[in-house]
Amino acid sequence: MTEPATNEFPEPATLRLFFALWPDDATRDALNRTGKWLHQHWGGRRMRVETVHITLAFLGETPAERLDDLVACADAARSDGFELILDQAGYWRHNRIGWLGASQTPPQYAELVGALNAALQGAGFPVDSRPHVPHVTLLRKSPGGEALACKPVRWPIGDFVLVKSATGSEGAHYDVIRRWSLA
Ligand code: ATP
Ligand code: MG
Repeated sequence: MTEPATNEFPEPATLRLFFALWPDDATRDALNRTGKWLHQHWGGRRMRVETVHITLAFLGETPAERLDDLVACADAARSDGFELILDQAGYWRHNRIGWLGASQTPPQYAELVGALNAALQGAGFPVDSRPHVPHVTLLRKSPGGEALACKPVRWPIGDFVLVKSATGSEGAHYDVIRRWSLA
């Protein structure tokens, strides 16, 4: 008898995971236009269009057998849908990132991130204790530049996702592995 083929390519023991807001096509286009514009002013390396997102909670390397617990955390973390208005170009010197953020955090956004972090902490996952700044990274390795007023991007938020990150030859590659609708 031959062994079943299932053990031939074992699943990796850990997955690099994060919860995120993933843009719809129209929002992705708008973010991409803003990325081009920001790049003209601040240089650096643009994020590839298919990778732009907002990280809600970063888990890092996670044992594959904890995926069910993660799903339960996301099931428990709810908010209503909302519109996120990204109207602020920002720059962080410490990691040389140029980003687009929201000058006003909608209460539903704060509720979602708060509920997610509370559930994750309760289940023993690592949570970030630093203040959470909602942002879309658009530029890496940027020298930054002058303060800029930018055209707001209006992003209708109807769901959030769990993403697997893998590092390939041309940078990080992200796979959406699960999606949760917001009411
Ligand atoms: P690379 O690290 O290869 O440059 P990346 O930062 O895009 O790629 P990951 O490190 O897997 O990929 O991170 C995925 C997402 O989580 C990104 O939005 C990243 O900015 C964010 N992130 C990474 N590390 C942390 C962290 N310690 N706290 C909060 N967010 C993080
Ligand atoms: Mg990283």
